[in-house]
Amino acid sequence: MTRGARGPALRGERRAPLVFTPAAVARTLGRVKRYRCTTCGNLTRFDVTTTTRVRAFHHYTVGGELSVEEPQVLGEVVEAVECRWCGPSGSVEELDAEGTVSPPS
Ligand SMILES: [Zn+2]
Repeated sequence: MTRGARGPALRGERRAPLVFTPAAVARTLGRVKRYRCTTCGNLTRFDVTTTTRVRAFHHYTVGGELSVEEPQVLGEVVEAVECRWCGPSGSVEELDAEGTVSPPS
């Protein structure tokens, strides 16, 4: 058995840092929400506030160093969506996943 011979992995470094990007969350939940600002027509830039429930494997060393692995997104609640350009004054609506709006090409 050759311990520590699994590629060029560095000690103390994880290949998958614990990052919950909205896209990753959406993939986990099986859908991607899209938005549109009806004030300025923006389809691509939004400040989205969410609450995400995550179950993960917390792995401690004897010394107490924690690494969090295998995150599973159990649910997500979107609390607020603001247009990046209009801010609170913008009016943002959620688009249907089936594509209520077809992107201009
Ligand atoms: Zn806007």
